[in-house]
Amino acid sequence: MTANAIFPAEHPDITFSSESSTLFSRCESMNFGDLHFKWDAETQLRAIIAIHSTKLGPALGGCRCLAYVSEVDAINDALNLSQAMSYKAAITGLKQGGGKAVLMKPPTIADRKKYFQSFGDFVESLGGRYITAVDSGTNPEDMDYIASRTQYVASTSRSHGGSGDPSPFTALGVRYGIEAAVRHRLQRETLTGLHAVIQGVGHVGYYLAKELHKLGVNLTVADTDGTAVKRCIDEFGTSAVSPDEIFSVPCDIFIPCALGGVINPKTVKKLNCKIIGGAANNQLSDSTLDEILAARHILYAPDYVINAGGLIQVSLDDPVEIEARINDIPNILDEIFTRAKAEMRPTGAIADIIAKERFYASAPTLSRPHNEG
Ligand code: NAD
Repeated sequence: MTANAIFPAEHPDITFSSESSTLFSRCESMNFGDLHFKWDAETQLRAIIAIHSTKLGPALGGCRCLAYVSEVDAINDALNLSQAMSYKAAITGLKQGGGKAVLMKPPTIADRKKYFQSFGDFVESLGGRYITAVDSGTNPEDMDYIASRTQYVASTSRSHGGSGDPSPFTALGVRYGIEAAVRHRLQRETLTGLHAVIQGVGHVGYYLAKELHKLGVNLTVADTDGTAVKRCIDEFGTSAVSPDEIFSVPCDIFIPCALGGVINPKTVKKLNCKIIGGAANNQLSDSTLDEILAARHILYAPDYVINAGGLIQVSLDDPVEIEARINDIPNILDEIFTRAKAEMRPTGAIADIIAKERFYASAPTLSRPHNEG
């Protein structure tokens, strides 16, 4: 990621005006939950923790640290991502609630240790209702700093006895999900000889490129970070195009592994693929895109299902159970694809229906008050 990159809202859902705020009505429509803010002058920490729900367990979700265009954009990201975490946990059968932390990254972080320790104090102040983890812009070493202030942190580094970077597990789940999508859309049992394009070859995208290269997939990649692109060219012999060109490359599978909102009214017209399946959260800028993709016979593997491998790994301790749950991701996708075809509805809509069915059918697992249900 370039140091100066700034991120506009992935979903421009909330607007604020002097006369009224739509924040609470938006929270109501999303069945929230609570929002927490921290400003720390010493470290320049501007942090938001969104807890969508603790109905199924403590809210678990990554900590993003990105340079946002505005506070509203950061709040939108936190709201949307934490709701998706609730659905992700429910649809994969994990006893976790949905939460997410968004840090508005300053131009420079003078002391990374103090910055993340200050965030650790913030997480601790919520008493375990929210557990943080690695996400875009953070790494296991940052989680170690947080762990010096709170126990409510996952994916600390392996040298500190933690579970480390969840990205390889996310990538594995995405690979299995792509294989399921290929069986449904292309009636093929293997990926050999197919052409996939990966947008964003950071943590997850790199591991996924490695997996797909091993399976004989021809790869084209794009990233705003030239070093990340070069690594894929050198190690896997991939082709590369500019970030703007990636949408229109003719391919079998389009794999979003950068940030959310990348499938939007502008980019959807350019897509020249049969399947979309990648790690990025909140890939569709709005729900109408789901229908447009279905009408164009592009099979969309819903993001919060196909990318659940990382959550599974940070949520569970037993390696056997982790493996079994990741192996189950293609089965959940099979159910979604089959039901979508039978009901002639888009796959994203079907995923939401199944996630909500499981969310509301589940008994609360905490005795403390929860947000939904
Ligand atoms: P990352 O920051 O390591 O990688 C993202 C990559 O995308 C970076 O290399 C960045 O330079 C690149 N990028 C940014 N904007 C781009 C653009 N416009 N075009 C092309 N490339 C661009 O993040 P990550 O951990 O690999 O996560 C990627 C996505 O997957 C995020 O949306 C994240 O929330 C989601 N996700 C990650 C995990 C995980 O285990 N890391 C789990 C579930 C979901």
